[in-house]
Amino acid sequence: MDGKNGLWVIVERSANGFRKVALELLSRGRDLAGRLGEVSGSRPGVWAVVTGPGSAPGTEELYRYGADEVLMVCHPLLEEHRTDLHAAVLADLIRERSPGIVLFGATAWGSEVAPTVAARVKTGLAAHCADLRIDGRGLLVQCVPAFGGKVLGEILCPDRRPQMASVRPGVFQAVPGDAPAGEPLVVRPELDDDDRIKVLEVQRREITGKPLEEAEVVIAGGWGVGSRENWQLLEELAGLLGAAVGCTRPALDEGWTEGEHTMIGTSGKTVRPKVYLGFGISGATHHVVGMKDSGLVISVNTNPNAEIFQFSDFKVVADARAVAEALIAELKAGKTS
Ligand SMILES: Cc1cc2nc3c(=O)[nH]c(=O)nc-3n(C[C@H](O)[C@H](O)[C@H](O)COP(=O)(O)OP(=O)(O)OC[C@H]3O[C@@H](n4cnc5c(N)ncnc54)[C@H](O)[C@@H]3O)c2cc1C
Repeated sequence: MDGKNGLWVIVERSANGFRKVALELLSRGRDLAGRLGEVSGSRPGVWAVVTGPGSAPGTEELYRYGADEVLMVCHPLLEEHRTDLHAAVLADLIRERSPGIVLFGATAWGSEVAPTVAARVKTGLAAHCADLRIDGRGLLVQCVPAFGGKVLGEILCPDRRPQMASVRPGVFQAVPGDAPAGEPLVVRPELDDDDRIKVLEVQRREITGKPLEEAEVVIAGGWGVGSRENWQLLEELAGLLGAAVGCTRPALDEGWTEGEHTMIGTSGKTVRPKVYLGFGISGATHHVVGMKDSGLVISVNTNPNAEIFQFSDFKVVADARAVAEALIAELKAGKTS
């Protein structure tokens, strides 16, 4: 019995609404619930569960992307950084309402809350899933990249409930429907702050530039870019094209770009831009897993046998710096003529 009492998507709030991965999961949840209905004869409801200090505005969006019901769990202590308290109220609710499936976004927040909840309710968690589907018995098949992304492992949780998974942002598409918005159900749990964690200060890092997962054009750079100076050319090119800049692990380790949020691949972001333009990237599976669903893929590499060319529509065997400079000159000339 698999979606009994509902399929829950735990919705993470953002500064201006909800994290996009929650909308992606609601859309996928709608499909999974439909499939469960076919297999078991009874379609479970899709629930968007939002925790926070107060009611969140904009819940129509949750209905539009797939929620049948919205459950707002409000308590003044449920600030974003008190993940221990979010986990505690979610575990209590799960025990009380027994959802069959619970899905989280594998963001920093979700990656902390999901395993804590799973441990509290004594079930399993398939973390960082790259796909989810329902099998012929109505079980949730949780696909997780294994062996460096070379194979997709299928994880089932036949005996414990709920079946729990976290899913990387960008894996599914957020598809709006035309379902009317309903009235969210609000619960106000009792919650004690046992003072085990004290938040002394919250520092927010400003992230500049376009978010990778929302960009239509992504310029990605790898170790073959060669230097921080050359990296500046990729930034300049991205500026001219209105693109976001992404990187591989070695480029990040070299310090040419800052922050894990710019890395594409199994341990980073999944992108599916209309155009992916990669410079000096070999095409290791760990990276390819995060960009293989891009539209047009153009790769620049000095090695004619580079693996990345297997996944590219246009293969440019050339020096990364030379191609970046030529493109910048061409775009600048186009702008002034
Ligand atoms: C558990 C685990 C998780 C990982 N997760 C990720 C991840 O999420 N994302 C990720 O990217 N990596 C990840 N990695 C690392 C990954 O395995 C590869 O090592 C990495 O993707 C390779 O990066 P690269 O292509 O930049 O470098 P390299 O493999 O060193 O390739 C550099 C390429 O540049 C070319 N080149 C050299 N000079 C030039 C030039 N002048 N002009 C043009 N081309 C040139 C070379 O021919 C080569 O093909 C992970 C590794 C592990 C073990």
